[in-house]
Amino acid sequence: MNCMNERLNMVDVQLAHRGIKDKRVLDTMRKVPRHLFVPSELASVAYADQPLSIGESQTISQPYMVALMSECLKLSGGEKILELGTGSGYQTAILAELGSSIYTIERINILSIEAQRTLNHLGYENIKFNIGDGTLGWSENAPYDGIIVTAGAPKISKVLIDQLSEGGRMVIPVGNSFSQELVVISKINKKIKTENICGCMFVPLIGKYGWNKEKKYY
Ligand code: SAM
Repeated sequence: MNCMNERLNMVDVQLAHRGIKDKRVLDTMRKVPRHLFVPSELASVAYADQPLSIGESQTISQPYMVALMSECLKLSGGEKILELGTGSGYQTAILAELGSSIYTIERINILSIEAQRTLNHLGYENIKFNIGDGTLGWSENAPYDGIIVTAGAPKISKVLIDQLSEGGRMVIPVGNSFSQELVVISKINKKIKTENICGCMFVPLIGKYGWNKEKKYY
């Protein structure tokens, strides 16, 4: 199964026609085999216009959201990027095509292991994996030119802003458990500029500077 036609159709109908313009993002999404990142029983709907379950109550994001978040980072190819929420590894693969080195953190062990297996199988060598609480960031490798948070956060934490390089951009869904706003933060001359992109719906970012799993108040 190669699914090239499904990918070309997905990019035309779901991405380009809805306003995604970054040619590198469109080309990358024509290339990365999304069907290899979903459970085998969902491979036939891998290119549908929706998020899909990847187990552990988590999801692979809708293709449009992956493209939009990638475009928001304005990558040109040489960037160091931190991703919070490896999930299936699909967004990680897109970033690995668009940037130069990717640092990705996932809190659920089994999801990270499965994503590592898929990404290694596809031959990506510019990705470093971490299993743990991504809300702490990954200070050893900071600063990052781009930070992407693929789970919904209650607020924009200073910990992540501090790990963003001068001129860097962070894309993060911020809000409550029902809905969030996709926000882009840019660091310019040590000042922070915030831009609201659109409404969105993500699973919760759980951790020290995210939601509290035990209290379940998200
Ligand atoms: N980008 C992923 C993909 O392409 O499949 C989708 C990610 S899914 C919407 C959000 C992921 O964030 C889940 O796998 C979840 O376990 C993870 N997550 C939630 N809180 C986290 C945290 N504090 N640190 C790392 N990962 C976290």
